[in-house]
Amino acid sequence: CRIDYQAPADLLEGRVILVTGAGDGIGRVAALEFARHGATVILLGRTLAKLEKVYDEIEAAGCPQPAIVPLNFEGATLKDYHDLAEMLDKEFGRLDGLLHNASLLGRITPFEQYNPELWEQVMQVNFNGPVWMTQALLPLLQVSKDASVVFTSSSVGRKGRAYWGAYSVSKFATEGFMEVLADEVEHLGTLRVNSLNPGATRTTMRANAYPGEDPGTLPTPETIMPTYLWLMGPDSQGHNGERFDAQPPKSA
Ligand code: NDP
Repeated sequence: CRIDYQAPADLLEGRVILVTGAGDGIGRVAALEFARHGATVILLGRTLAKLEKVYDEIEAAGCPQPAIVPLNFEGATLKDYHDLAEMLDKEFGRLDGLLHNASLLGRITPFEQYNPELWEQVMQVNFNGPVWMTQALLPLLQVSKDASVVFTSSSVGRKGRAYWGAYSVSKFATEGFMEVLADEVEHLGTLRVNSLNPGATRTTMRANAYPGEDPGTLPTPETIMPTYLWLMGPDSQGHNGERFDAQPPKSA
């Protein structure tokens, strides 16, 4: 991991980077940080009002003008992903970065009681939707001279844990897809695909997963940004098909 990475102020200058789930939590802060480091950020998410707030923050900070794409992975179709690709092609002609960050927690419950509809919903939002969006965006990622795709994983996507159900399985699937795609694009030399586990971070999702925990004891999304910046910028060139952690592993 790149915990101590010091990103130069112009690290992402001239890059076009799409962030999913950019309206809240880690995605919101990643979008702001990418913009502060010079990127033109495409803010994708399901709640327009939240995306507009992030848009305004980026504009107020004098960063490159972002774009907003309202999209809900739950109901999105292949046509939506291709329309998105067409819009990006028209506006920018390429894509230099894709942060797959949006996810649903679903429910933490014994598998015996897991609701099949909820299971499908979590797999759709966390895995299937992002897969087909990636397929639609691949041609634009291949136009870029230096593109980075980052899939957000979790510790339960690397070691299964009781009661984490579809969320855990969706993250395992994400890790597997990351490896398949990384291997397929390896020969290009211009596109890298990796996964990143943010580790326990102070967000709404974390609070929902651990209602008894004091959020004040957790690192904020801001503190885990060095690894996100490193993965999106040119310093991570040559890393493909790898699993990263944004926080040091727990000693226990
Ligand atoms: P949050 O729940 O705080 O934010 C998730 C974002 O994803 C929100 O902006 C949300 O939109 C968006 N989103 C959810 N469902 C959809 C959908 N159907 N379509 C489009 N956008 C959607 O989560 P975090 O910031 O905590 O998590 C970010 C990533 O990090 C996730 O992939 C998560 O699995 C991972 N992670 C987080 C950890 C943590 O401790 N926080 C630990 C390990 C992994 P809206 O705002 O409209 O709800």
